[in-house]
Amino acid sequence: MSAMASKPDITTAVAPAGTETTTSRETMIWVNGEMKPKSQAAVSVYDHGLLYGDGVFEGIRVYNGKIFKCQQHIDRLYECAGKIYLDLEKHVSREKMVQIQRDCIEANGITDGYIRLVVTRGAGTLGLNPYLCPEPGVVCIADTIQLFKPEMYESGMRVVVAERPKTPIECLDPRIKSLNYLNNIMAKCEAIHLSQKLGITKPEDQLLEVIMLNTDRQVAEGSGDNIFFIKDGTVFTPPSDAGILEGITRRFVKDTLCPALGYPIEERFFSLDELLKADEVFLTGSAAEMIAVREVLEHTDLEVTATHTISKGEGPMTKALRTKFREIVTSDNVPED
Ligand code: PMP
Repeated sequence: MSAMASKPDITTAVAPAGTETTTSRETMIWVNGEMKPKSQAAVSVYDHGLLYGDGVFEGIRVYNGKIFKCQQHIDRLYECAGKIYLDLEKHVSREKMVQIQRDCIEANGITDGYIRLVVTRGAGTLGLNPYLCPEPGVVCIADTIQLFKPEMYESGMRVVVAERPKTPIECLDPRIKSLNYLNNIMAKCEAIHLSQKLGITKPEDQLLEVIMLNTDRQVAEGSGDNIFFIKDGTVFTPPSDAGILEGITRRFVKDTLCPALGYPIEERFFSLDELLKADEVFLTGSAAEMIAVREVLEHTDLEVTATHTISKGEGPMTKALRTKFREIVTSDNVPED
């Protein structure tokens, strides 16, 4: 894999929370027990979240003033904390963690937006020992989020198969939503660098996401999204043993959207070859929601080796699922369970 010397200037269409505000008033951010204006929100440089990526986080959507799947996000946060030997409950109750989010939403007047909830190991020594960090850090940012342009959802996205595989489960389980995202970031850089090398300028043609394979060459997920494909009327997605984050949106597709539309859904391992023969492919995530993949590029060392068209734009089943998704999140009954 070659390193790019120049700085890529291609950004994704999704603005990270905290970069854009709709009001002129400064965003208020919860940092370690206090609500502070963004310009004054800071953590210790001795925080192990910063020093070692030692911590866990959640990305959560707010629809119609409700925290979408709040309970599931809280459960995943506390389970992930437990998996890194951090007993979060001992320091912050689940109720308090929900209240922090509601306070942030209210302080920033958010009805539709995005919450980034970060739990770090906390400030400690320069050494690795996490047990020398007495108190975990908690940061909560509630802000607006700029989605992909609406046209992107209809035209579908072009993606790249990353050469870099996912970190194997036995090294660092991707089910843990940890602050260690370098594996994903470097995979995403493959798409960004390739987009730049190909001189792609049209927003709808940008390579905005990667398909990551595990070290057994099975399809795993995107850098920040789960993956699904549709073949002959059945919806497929890899099991969590493929080495993926068990996405909340993925679960919503499996447990709510597919049953609501009567679509059979199967969780099983599959290869890239099988994915490329699909009728439809789509990605899911709290930020992206559901977005179709129209084309998949393969590359070796930033040289394109194959281009596969999946569908002309968003396929009919993906469209029906996304329509159902939008219907629920724009209703008066946004699920917080
Ligand atoms: N996989 C990865 C690696 C992610 O970062 C995300 C986004 N959090 C997802 C999948 C989708 O998860 P969710 O639907 O919970 O946002």
